[in-house]
Amino acid sequence: MLKLYNTLTRRKEIFKPLKKKTVGLYTCGPTVYNYAHIGNLRTYLFEDILERTLLRNGYRIKRVMNTTDVGHLTSDADTGEDKMEKGAAREGRTVWDIARFYTKAFFRDIKELNIRKPRHVAPATKFIKEQVALIKRLFKRRYAYETSKAVYFDVSKFKRYTNLSRQKLSGKIAGAREEVIADPEKRNPQDFALWFKLVGRFKNHIMRWPSPWGVGFPGWHIECSAISSALLGQPFDIHTGGVDHIPLHHTNEIAQSEAAYGKPLARFWLHGEFLAIDTKRMGKSEENFITLETVKRKGFPPLAYRYFVLGTHYRKKLNFTWEALGAARRALEKLYGAVETIRGQAAKGNQRKSAFNYQRPSVNRKISGHQLIEKSAFISAQNKFNAALDNDLNTPQALAVLWETVNDTRLSPRAKLPLLLSYDKVLGLGLKTAKKQAAVPASILKLVRARELCRTNKQFTHADALRVKIEGLGYRVEDTSSGPKVLKKR
Ligand code: AMP
Ligand code: ZN
Repeated sequence: MLKLYNTLTRRKEIFKPLKKKTVGLYTCGPTVYNYAHIGNLRTYLFEDILERTLLRNGYRIKRVMNTTDVGHLTSDADTGEDKMEKGAAREGRTVWDIARFYTKAFFRDIKELNIRKPRHVAPATKFIKEQVALIKRLFKRRYAYETSKAVYFDVSKFKRYTNLSRQKLSGKIAGAREEVIADPEKRNPQDFALWFKLVGRFKNHIMRWPSPWGVGFPGWHIECSAISSALLGQPFDIHTGGVDHIPLHHTNEIAQSEAAYGKPLARFWLHGEFLAIDTKRMGKSEENFITLETVKRKGFPPLAYRYFVLGTHYRKKLNFTWEALGAARRALEKLYGAVETIRGQAAKGNQRKSAFNYQRPSVNRKISGHQLIEKSAFISAQNKFNAALDNDLNTPQALAVLWETVNDTRLSPRAKLPLLLSYDKVLGLGLKTAKKQAAVPASILKLVRARELCRTNKQFTHADALRVKIEGLGYRVEDTSSGPKVLKKR
């Protein structure tokens, strides 16, 4: 029985989809003005585990993810610059180039972390018509109003506005003060923008579309309401994001969608806790920004980061250190080694002969005493693994079950292998290809880094000599657009 913690009720609840077998899942996506940092990626990892757990429970998933390529200002409240334009100015490229480049980088990152790509990826700029229609609907229902600068949502008209955050509305005033200065015509300081007009600081805004309120561009929150309604309908099953989305972005999404359609937006709201560094939240605008690229450059395979993240429950803060990532890498290497040994033993068939059907344990009837012990160990391991995930995606517990299975003397290699591979359908640690993934020793990575440095300094002769040395030690280096890739020679 799958239980998930619902932020809306602050309780773990039994999950059942609204429609029989298909789960409607909406996961807020990245703002594509810069690389995702490994904090953002932690949130996408939690969502990946959610999706894979739902699949393990026999559901089909219709998953939608937006990409924010317009409208997100540098402050989540409606102040500051447009993030996309800031990115474009920083790099001397067009906003469209920036969106294209960082969207691609994002999907490359998640692929390397073995995160399933959502079936429906929806850039905000492809859904302008739907956003305008939704704002029109909010006007009709008297939740929206227009000033000379923008169109706003009147939060005083939506009585359940603070239901998700459980904050006092007055508590939000301090943070909203800057906005009031930005537009003195706002009715309430907490009102948020649905549409920006091209006046004042946005006079030269590049991304622009016509609307009944003049040429302009949408506010940040409206895209998710419009996209989810267009692709999933309303209500749908699960909505997710990082905890920072609770008091503002998701609160505003609920207000827009529920005011427009008079029914709930989503049944379950799941939020992933932050990745911190030196106990401070990792943020795109902070100095402490670490990308997957940096992780790789330092010699860590992306899946070591996945392993590191799975070691902590998604609702607990996780502090990042390179030492902890190193420990995760060592554990993963050990796991790959163990799986390879088990695979080898299972293939050789040097274990006890068994008539037991490991793929379908329930079909086994006539079996001997030790087979009975093995069968019960097999089923109990499987149940324990399912129970861990079904208990609000308890991945640290699931990893503990995985190690227990590796070391379980009651199970033959032929029983262990399918169990481990089935766990990995959720954990996604690449156990199927453990041999290929087997991590590269630190001594080799040191040589690879030294070679990179030589190449950067144009010391090509020295770089070539290092390549020969690496090859002599049984590895080869491939230079790819995302940096050097080291592989064991076959
Ligand atoms: P953004 O690209 O800034 O819109 O953020 C993308 C996702 O990452 C959102 O779901 C955020 O809630 C989440 N997020 C932002 N910072 C962190 C962090 N330090 N740790 C975990 N998730 C984060
Ligand atoms: Zn969203």
